[in-house]
Amino acid sequence: MNNQNTSAVALIVGAGPAGLTAATELQRNTTIHPIVVEESDAIGGISRTVRYHGNRMDIGGHRFFSRSERVNRWWLSFLPMQGAPALDDRLLSRSKPLSPAGPDPDLTDEVMLTRDRISRIFYLRAFFDYPISLKYSTFAGMGL
Ligand SMILES: Cc1cc2nc3c(=O)[nH]c(=O)nc-3n(C[C@H](O)[C@H](O)[C@H](O)COP(=O)(O)OP(=O)(O)OC[C@H]3O[C@@H](n4cnc5c(N)ncnc54)[C@H](O)[C@@H]3O)c2cc1C
Repeated sequence: MNNQNTSAVALIVGAGPAGLTAATELQRNTTIHPIVVEESDAIGGISRTVRYHGNRMDIGGHRFFSRSERVNRWWLSFLPMQGAPALDDRLLSRSKPLSPAGPDPDLTDEVMLTRDRISRIFYLRAFFDYPISLKYSTFAGMGL
């Protein structure tokens, strides 16, 4: 596809994080017009939050993690780091790093919250770190 051609169109299949990121990058940095085709009635793919009987459930991605500074900056441009403690942190007397100009989680959903959690993948009757790490226990759990 030619970047100089202002009538160029990119057809993106799927409105998950990958498709929406691709469309946003095309819109921000090129003259290519992205069209996102989504087969379901919602955007966000398996990273979306589903509302069910008044509850919010994250069916797939629920925490954001990346070792890439660029990727982190990209997401923080949409969801700035929290500037005030969240309700659960206040109730449990947990302190979290706060961004001076960051939004208050009590006032908006468009905020990135710092969370201390350990995730494990249960596979082959063994627990593995998530994200996967190159530790001895990972190889020992997988076996030959
Ligand atoms: C249980 C679980 C926990 C996870 N936890 C985390 C986490 O904590 N942190 C994290 O960063 N990631 C997590 N992930 C991974 C994260 O959810 C995925 O990496 C991310 O959603 C992938 O984005 P994607 O856009 O590639 O695909 P998807 O999110 O799968 O989106 C694909 C989209 O394309 C649509 N689609 C598919 N085929 C077609 C078609 N033919 N035509 C039109 N539309 C189509 C789908 O309906 C969907 O909306 C988790 C995943 C799972 C399953």
